[in-house]
Amino acid sequence: PSSLIWFRQDLRLADQPAVAAAAERGPTVGLYVLDDETPNDWSIGGAQRWWLHHSLEALGAELKKKGGTLLLRRGRSAEVVCAVMDELGAETVHAARHYEPWWRAAEAELGARLTLHEGDVLHEPEAFRNGSGGSFKIFGPYYRALSKDLPPPEPLPAPKRFNAPPELPRSDRLADWKLLPTRPNWATGFDVWSPGEAGAQDHLHRFAAEVETYAERRDLPSEVGTSNLSPHLHFGELSPRQLWHGLSDGADDKFRRELAWRDFSRHIILADPELGNREQRPLKLKHRRSDRDFAAWSRGRTGYPIVDAGMRQLWATGWMHNRVRLITASFLVKHLLLDWRLGAHWFWDTLVDADYANNSQNWQWIAGTGFDSQPFYRVMAPLLQSEKFAAADYIRRWVPELADLSDRDIHDPHARGLAPAGYPEPLIPHREARERALQAFRDARNR
Ligand code: FAD
Repeated sequence: PSSLIWFRQDLRLADQPAVAAAAERGPTVGLYVLDDETPNDWSIGGAQRWWLHHSLEALGAELKKKGGTLLLRRGRSAEVVCAVMDELGAETVHAARHYEPWWRAAEAELGARLTLHEGDVLHEPEAFRNGSGGSFKIFGPYYRALSKDLPPPEPLPAPKRFNAPPELPRSDRLADWKLLPTRPNWATGFDVWSPGEAGAQDHLHRFAAEVETYAERRDLPSEVGTSNLSPHLHFGELSPRQLWHGLSDGADDKFRRELAWRDFSRHIILADPELGNREQRPLKLKHRRSDRDFAAWSRGRTGYPIVDAGMRQLWATGWMHNRVRLITASFLVKHLLLDWRLGAHWFWDTLVDADYANNSQNWQWIAGTGFDSQPFYRVMAPLLQSEKFAAADYIRRWVPELADLSDRDIHDPHARGLAPAGYPEPLIPHREARERALQAFRDARNR
């Protein structure tokens, strides 16, 4: 009998126990289901549709080269997987495990027909329990526990050949899914990316040569100091184990710790599947509502150069530097007092690396509502951050109307009377925003 491989956020053939297990057993077919129903509010966002299109194209071509096939279908995952199994006469479907609540629901629905394999993490997140047998809520102790099991196992090679069954079920045509962007002025910088397993490997090799300077440069948005591997990791074109072992022994511990955050956020959503929707420690904050402010934030017209640069980088390239994600998210939550979920959903739709666990956890951290969170009353000062992390060139790149200002003036052109015509006034002055946020926090505590 044939086996089916159900691909989701694991669009690779190497270091894929699910793929290896299916290929060993005889005729094998791959399946990707475009499912906008099971995830509900978290169905795949706009920027990731672009990525997905190219990644599926690459995976399909690679499978074909090796004698295999990738079928494309649309609908509710569990139903479609069952239907294709019946058409194929397959007894088993193999898949890599994922931790998003909607994927767990679909896995549960498939029950005994599904064989799950590792592949998305350094180590399965349930393997780690704190002293009282519960899950960890704080990263430090989690990392100490994980470290005892590091390095992770060596990655597996990709199968050399696939056997196709004599008859194949029908497949949709990728072009008919219309995943590529249609909005004008959006995604103009997406050509920096090379989705797919081969692109991920090239990118890994490039980064391996630079990882030594990671700790020094990772906080500087003007430099390419981080790996930019996040979309490849999200789509599973590169496994965390391949990444771990692909870096030389001298690779920076700071980098490995960052990668462990990705595992940790999976550990967290297992314990708290509603992380993207519900506050872990509710603050009872009275959020403002302002379509005008949200529009200014999302399109990079707040009058705060570092915030505007970040939001425009996101819009153009589908990615934003981590330091600037912190600054822009904090600006939305504290300066504008808007609900963090609005920001999280905007990121979801515009990031090529949008990831339910990482995104939700980081937004709750910034909003002061996560277990492992900074306190709400710490209000980040965007203009000081911009100076401290030497963001002048980054601003020049993304807010070209400020490009002629000096390194000293560019962070806060309004204060120096140097803002060019057409560059927006600050939505609210920093000091006033800080006072308003602190007052809202005091009111929330008394509520
Ligand atoms: P590197 O610094 O090279 O790190 C390597 C990998 O480690 C990353 O690719 C990522 O998989 C993981 N990692 C690094 N930092 C974190 C972190 N803080 N939390 C969890 N994993 C981490 N990351 C996402 O992958 N998807 C998201 O949707 C996402 N949303 C975020 C929202 C906010 C408000 C903030 C502050 C951060 C968010 N992050 C998210 C975390 C982080 O910003 C990105 O992972 C990182 O910027 C990706 O760039 P990189 O691959 O160059 O990172």
